[in-house]
Amino acid sequence: MARVVVTGGAGFLGSHLCHRLLERGDEVVCLDNMVTGGLSNISDLFGRRGFTFVEHDVSTYVWVPGEVDQVLHFASPASPIDFERIPIQILKVGSLGTHNALGLAKAKGARFFLASTSEVYGDPQVHPQPESYWGNVNPIGPRGVYDEAKRFAEAMTMAYHRHHGLDVRIVRIFNTYGPQMRPDDGRAVSNFIVQALAGKPISVYGDGSQTRSFTYVDDEVRGFLKLLDSDVVGPMNIGNPTEYTILELAEMVIEVLGSSSEIVFEPLPVDDPTQRKPDITQAVAKLGWQPEVELRTGIERTAAYFRDLLAADDD
Ligand code: UDP
Repeated sequence: MARVVVTGGAGFLGSHLCHRLLERGDEVVCLDNMVTGGLSNISDLFGRRGFTFVEHDVSTYVWVPGEVDQVLHFASPASPIDFERIPIQILKVGSLGTHNALGLAKAKGARFFLASTSEVYGDPQVHPQPESYWGNVNPIGPRGVYDEAKRFAEAMTMAYHRHHGLDVRIVRIFNTYGPQMRPDDGRAVSNFIVQALAGKPISVYGDGSQTRSFTYVDDEVRGFLKLLDSDVVGPMNIGNPTEYTILELAEMVIEVLGSSSEIVFEPLPVDDPTQRKPDITQAVAKLGWQPEVELRTGIERTAAYFRDLLAADDD
């Protein structure tokens, strides 16, 4: 049993992680400033033994009293719509927030786990992307605020590892979806499902030929725990390597939900990556991890969540 600090613990991935850690008997201190996190993601954990929630912005300073065995740094808005809305907060949490979380881990002699991203590969010119690829990022574009903050976070994490001997893990996360996503998150999966449920037009950006590889949240979190428990520093890609065009995703959502929605084409956002697919050779070989949930099944489960959520909002 470990005492684990999860920054961004009320967010989409952080809240799933808090649940899994408590289920396996760990104690969890969840920190979140609630900029994109939601209390509803963790409301069932209040009063549960071993769970503490502190509303706090880790970009300012982080201190947690008592022993800490692991610091899992998941705090950051991660949706492209946030990149335009709160760019400076994203840069701060990726840089200052990561530095503070690393400082906490160092002071406590704790293991540090960084939630990094496939966005460090930018608009990749190597396909699929192995961890050894350095990426193709526009530092001054609208996505640069997230991509460069995460690249800085990886550099800082490795500097603490090399210079201070800190025990670290770095995961690179690929488009993850599932229950607890915000309905207004702006991502392709959440937008398409919410639009299809309402019978509204499905908004495909560009001509829909750009690709992504979508990972169901349970698979993703299982990968996090495997990496956390391993002796592999990383960076490690954890993502489902089955690649779809965005148009294929839109068509699958319509079909799976039996929706009458039509597809409409809207302008492609600036610097939108043309392709993305993880090379997971390392995750398979070193962690024995691979995804299990197919996109179709994941869409059904996510749609069930949004159906309940939106029905509750109507009450
Ligand atoms: N996308 C889309 N319609 C939407 C939302 C997103 O066509 O309503 C596209 C977006 O331009 C991108 C892909 O879907 O090419 C995945 O976008 P998302 O925001 O889910 O993730 P990211 O771009 O960060 O990979």
